[in-house]
Amino acid sequence: MRVLKFGGSSLADADRFLRAADIIANNAQQEEVAVVLSAPGKTTNKLVAVIEGALRNGDADLQIAELENSFAQLFTDIKAVLPNVDNAAFDEQVNVSMLQLRQFVHGIALLGMCPNNANARIISKGERISIKLMQAVLEAKGQSASLIDPVKYLFAKGDHLEAMVDVETSTLNFKKEPLPVGHVNIMPGFTAGNEDGELVTLGRNGSDYSAAVLAACLRADCCEIWTDVDGVYNCDPRLVDDARLLKSLSYQEAMELSYFGASVLHPKTIAPIAQFHIPCLIKNSFNPQGAGTLIGQDTGEDNLAIKGITTLNKLTMVNVSGPGMKGMVGMASRVFGAMSSSGVSIVLITQSSSEYSISFCIEAADKQRAEQALHDAFELELKDSLLEPVEFIDDVAIVTLVGDGMRTSKGVASQFFSSLAEVNVNIVAIAQGSSERAISAVIPEDKVSEAIKACHENFFNSKHFLDLFIVGVGGVGGELVDQVQRQQAKLAQKGIVIRVCGLANSKGVLLDAKGLPLSNWRDRMGHVSEEFSLASLISTVQRNHIINPVLVDCTSSEVIAEQYADFLAAGFHVVTPNKKANTASMAYYHQLRQVARSSRRKLLYETTVGAGLPVIENLQNLISAGDELDKFNGILSGSLSFIFGKLDEGLTLSQATNIAKDNGFTEPDPRDDLSGMDVARKLLILAREAGMELELDDVVVEQALPPGFDDSGSVDEFMARLPEADAYFSDLAEKAAQEGKVLRYVGEIDAGKCRVRIIAVDGNDPMNKVKDGENALAFYSRYYQPIPLVLRGYGAGTEVTAAGVFADVMRTLGWKLGV
Ligand code: ADP
Ligand code: ASP
Ligand code: MG
Repeated sequence: MRVLKFGGSSLADADRFLRAADIIANNAQQEEVAVVLSAPGKTTNKLVAVIEGALRNGDADLQIAELENSFAQLFTDIKAVLPNVDNAAFDEQVNVSMLQLRQFVHGIALLGMCPNNANARIISKGERISIKLMQAVLEAKGQSASLIDPVKYLFAKGDHLEAMVDVETSTLNFKKEPLPVGHVNIMPGFTAGNEDGELVTLGRNGSDYSAAVLAACLRADCCEIWTDVDGVYNCDPRLVDDARLLKSLSYQEAMELSYFGASVLHPKTIAPIAQFHIPCLIKNSFNPQGAGTLIGQDTGEDNLAIKGITTLNKLTMVNVSGPGMKGMVGMASRVFGAMSSSGVSIVLITQSSSEYSISFCIEAADKQRAEQALHDAFELELKDSLLEPVEFIDDVAIVTLVGDGMRTSKGVASQFFSSLAEVNVNIVAIAQGSSERAISAVIPEDKVSEAIKACHENFFNSKHFLDLFIVGVGGVGGELVDQVQRQQAKLAQKGIVIRVCGLANSKGVLLDAKGLPLSNWRDRMGHVSEEFSLASLISTVQRNHIINPVLVDCTSSEVIAEQYADFLAAGFHVVTPNKKANTASMAYYHQLRQVARSSRRKLLYETTVGAGLPVIENLQNLISAGDELDKFNGILSGSLSFIFGKLDEGLTLSQATNIAKDNGFTEPDPRDDLSGMDVARKLLILAREAGMELELDDVVVEQALPPGFDDSGSVDEFMARLPEADAYFSDLAEKAAQEGKVLRYVGEIDAGKCRVRIIAVDGNDPMNKVKDGENALAFYSRYYQPIPLVLRGYGAGTEVTAAGVFADVMRTLGWKLGV
């Protein structure tokens, strides 16, 4: 005998209903089956709305009409596929139910309240309609079916709305009056009968529990829960894109998962089937061939320390504390007694070891009742200040990790808490069940998505997502997008999903939190209309709970650089070849690092000096290993390396500059290079990296133009005037040549001072050979002395720079890169 339960989601429309009927009929061909049905779709919610309408407005005509229509539509659609389905029993059930509903509404309106016994009868109407319709459908398919009345068979105790079934007595009921064999026996879920023979409900979502108790009473071979997902996932699949389907779970694991929020299974379901060792299979009615998830005695073959991550929302945390708590016998029992007598259920408890306080979570809806009950119970203690005023923390949620294997594996808690810290989640409280099968953290509710995603990435080695927002899509930025597009598939194979979620330039922005298609991004950027604002990037990230956003600033804009601190604070990593932030005031420089540290985000700018050469990383490594920079000199500008190299060959400054400009080796306005400011900024970045507190004004800059040279006007006017500088440089070059030297444009750090200037170097100097756009950097440090650490290589160009930016983007993943 198998018990098959179909949830509301599997009965929501004609197509689904007929699929469920097919599954039942197929199973009935093989063996005896009993079926438990929920109400179709969201019927129960609508019935709850009827009660609310009656209490609020004194009538619920609209809600009832809506229900009637939805049933009529369901039947019409089924009849269109199955013309011989009989409507008599179904119509009668709907008519009687609606009539009763109207009578109830009238009574509720008169009374001004809805007693629980009436409430139970109203909200359970949907299940009764489901079973009549299923019986008619099965009979139309040639499968005989009869109905089980749960009020008669399932004996329940407790509240009318949250009753518990007594399996022993109910089993006897089935023994006394056995179900007919050779039929499919269909029972409405969600209800049972109490000792007065009244209908009671088993709590919202209670049909899973109905199926479990039926399976227990009948000692079924299996209890199958048919729903709209392939089984139990390690996370709510609505929150995590790559949630994993679990093959199997132990009863205890399933119990903890469902208790702490996995709505795929009602928490009460497990106890009755575990008692009789009945396996429970969760299956998808849209994919009957799928294996589903098996819940049984053992944790099964998934072999994971952590099986799942769940959340419970809409909670309030209560904190009872005060000097009167310490050592007082019976305080905890009085606190919890007050809760239980006022009907407030406690979801989770923590107690500080000092016994100074007891904290616990309750459903937010119970807050007022809890407040009143505590106030009444501790009136004297509160008056005498033995207790502090009770503290309520609203809008919290519980995130729980569940797994049998947790007991024997180390470091789960620390990995859990560091995952939460990684996404800036503040932990309000923690609790571990004594079974060591679950560990929970209470956190602010608005951070649940981020928390789940971070835990899922870290515990399940699942995919790591990198979501880029690239601002400035000209040279370097554009090349970066192309490189990302080329690498996406390869990285995906390593479990790294890199998505470009935002592209922006001065004309506008393209945004898509799921990742923009990159095949025709240049065309689409040509037609953008949405105006770009930094705030829109931040709100996209917050709205979509993106946990690894990276702002890639490929502009040279000061305005954007000024906002890095805001981006870091909002949870973005910042990656940039833009030198403006690192050369702004020293105060901002420190602020950026402080914000990055406190929000655990990375600020990476390897390409600000030496393009793709690993300059910053090496310098940082030296300094963090205790080395100190004594002296530095180097050729830091690719454009000036090219131009000065050409002077060696006898070209004039203007000729060399023109060639460089035509080949794209200079900035669009060559004055940006010739002014020396670009080199000054790079030098300042290096100096600050080495620990010097300097401002840009402190860098002494000799421009690559004759002193007092008129650099005004447009680019063309300036270029036309440039030959006037030639004689000055030819003279210098000639003098240098007479001494066997060549001119180089260098940046130097010495004795705490930064200087940018033209120098003449002889053949023994390593910089003598550095030209054609090459960079060379010589670091003289405590460890690298007298021979410096030298980095040399091509120090300009969009491709190498974009590749360097890309490498920084990957470095934001930190240790996860190694997985
Ligand atoms: P039914 O109508 O069949 O009773 P429910 O809506 O009650 O279905 O439960 C199924 C839903 O539970 C799924 O659609 C899914 O969104 C949600 N869910 C939450 N957590 C999990 C989880 N860990 N595994 C599977 N589903 C989950
Ligand atoms: N129909 C009921 C509810 O929605 C019971 C169930 O579907 O499990 O709560
Ligand atoms: Mg359900």
